[in-house]
Amino acid sequence: MLEFEIGKWTIAVDPDLTREIYAGLETSGAESCGCEPCFNFAAVRHLVYTPEILNLFDWLGVDPLLESGVRHLGRVTPGSHRYAGWFHVVGKIAKGPATPVAAADRGRESVVSLVDSGDGLEVGFSTERSLAPEDFRGLPVVTLEFSALAPWISNAPEPD
Ligand SMILES: [Zn+2]
Repeated sequence: MLEFEIGKWTIAVDPDLTREIYAGLETSGAESCGCEPCFNFAAVRHLVYTPEILNLFDWLGVDPLLESGVRHLGRVTPGSHRYAGWFHVVGKIAKGPATPVAAADRGRESVVSLVDSGDGLEVGFSTERSLAPEDFRGLPVVTLEFSALAPWISNAPEPD
């Protein structure tokens, strides 16, 4: 396992094994959900991640097109929506908070642990593994959570 530090966390990960698992995944959580906010996220996710986060994903072995899931948290301003989402990584939290952060409700307290990556994007880690794809079964898993602003481009009416 390789260790790295980010914000309040020290994370131990296995990027090669993680990369192997992502290579075998067929569809992202947003695409398999099929609801309108998830559909919208899948269409704009390339606008959401910063170069720093894409570098981190690459290093971790995570395919940015294959998030395990997203949740629409609400409209911030017309055309701009807040989402939480998560990716799973083979590894564990060596040091730092273990409880879900981004996907919890948006009370300020739930997000203070998150690392600001610019452009409305924040990331954090948790040990919550209930939403991990089957392929992670039997492996140690850490969840990379994010909270992001995304534009609304779907033709469907904007949700609140
Ligand atoms: Zn959905």
